[in-house]
Amino acid sequence: MTVLPTDKFATKAIHAGAHTDVHGSVIEPISLSTTFKQHAPAQPVGQYEYSRSQNPNRKNLEDAVAALENAKYGLAFSSGSATTAVVLQSLPQGSHAVSIGDVYGGTHRYFSKVANAHGVETTFSNDLVEELPQLIRDNTKLVWIETPTNPTLKVTDIQLVSNTIRKINPEILLVVDNTFLSPYLSNPLDFGADIVVHSATKYINGHSDVVLGVLATNSEALYTKLQFLQNAIGAIPSPFDAWLAHRGLKTLHLRVRQASLSATKIAKFLAESESVQSVNYPGLESHPNYDVVKKQHREALGGGMISFRIKGGAEAASKFTSATRLFTLAESLGGIESLLEVPAVMTHGGIPKEQREISGVYDNLVRLSVGIEDSDDLLDDIKKALKEAAN
Ligand SMILES: *Cc1c(COP(=O)(O)O)cnc(C)c1O
Repeated sequence: MTVLPTDKFATKAIHAGAHTDVHGSVIEPISLSTTFKQHAPAQPVGQYEYSRSQNPNRKNLEDAVAALENAKYGLAFSSGSATTAVVLQSLPQGSHAVSIGDVYGGTHRYFSKVANAHGVETTFSNDLVEELPQLIRDNTKLVWIETPTNPTLKVTDIQLVSNTIRKINPEILLVVDNTFLSPYLSNPLDFGADIVVHSATKYINGHSDVVLGVLATNSEALYTKLQFLQNAIGAIPSPFDAWLAHRGLKTLHLRVRQASLSATKIAKFLAESESVQSVNYPGLESHPNYDVVKKQHREALGGGMISFRIKGGAEAASKFTSATRLFTLAESLGGIESLLEVPAVMTHGGIPKEQREISGVYDNLVRLSVGIEDSDDLLDDIKKALKEAAN
């Protein structure tokens, strides 16, 4: 079915990239064939030749992601990390990049340990909006931001960063990692980003059973370049994973809205609690960047991620995260089930203490990924575990 530009998000989520096959199947079958027949040499029967270059299930997912990000083009990869790798691989040798300081750990690792080996140098900034004009050099080709950040949920004004870049050098690409919000809550291309990337492992697939990455762009030149690399590097998702992620994406709006509503309830409770030192949640009016949230997030929703500092140090954090019944102690996020973790010893354990404390990752910081179980049951679970941790 072709979706119209005027169709609303939920309509696009259900119908973009959803085609019937020769049997009229309402849900497209999984196309496992690695190769496709040709009528005559170099005359394929349809639009496909070889499944690394393009596959029907991957194409459907790519079209759906593009529609949800208000983009002309989408590309899917074997992971969020492979997506990052392909974007950075597109930079010429001798390039310079500027990245937000508390970027996803794997992105930081790629910038500092892989891209540098190919002659791409990166400057990290913890105050990118302020410092950007000084950090941009003659050879700066790319600016990378992630909003909200992980795990302290700082929000960056994408339009402001884009305006700064355009004034200095319009050729510099602005890339936004939109994993934490998903396309339902924010569309970075609408605020001046050139490329939006996602770990679809998180909200887009949303069921914690697929590792996959996607990007979207409105630039035909960028799409052509990145599609060339997608095929040349070959870090592509399997047809089954593309099919699953496309299925997951169809309920994105329902899941992210519910997670946001529950997270708001929980964040409000935590902000009032005697056992809590401070709360980071973009949906609270007390959030330092709430003015940006109001213009950049759908209905100023805060998303499903919360972090907070529990009183009682690392010990209380450990007790709390072992005491919940519904929140499972595990890394990752964005699934239907609620998860929690202690970043200082889990996802961010590799960062030296002084360095992680500069970005707010203290030993007593707990990160929640709020799922879509019943709101009151989740809140009860948090209340009980807080009591237990205080004993
Ligand atoms: C998980 C994550 C990634 C990496 O994605 P993978 O699918 O795990 O490779 C990148 N950015 C953010 C913000 C993430 O949360």
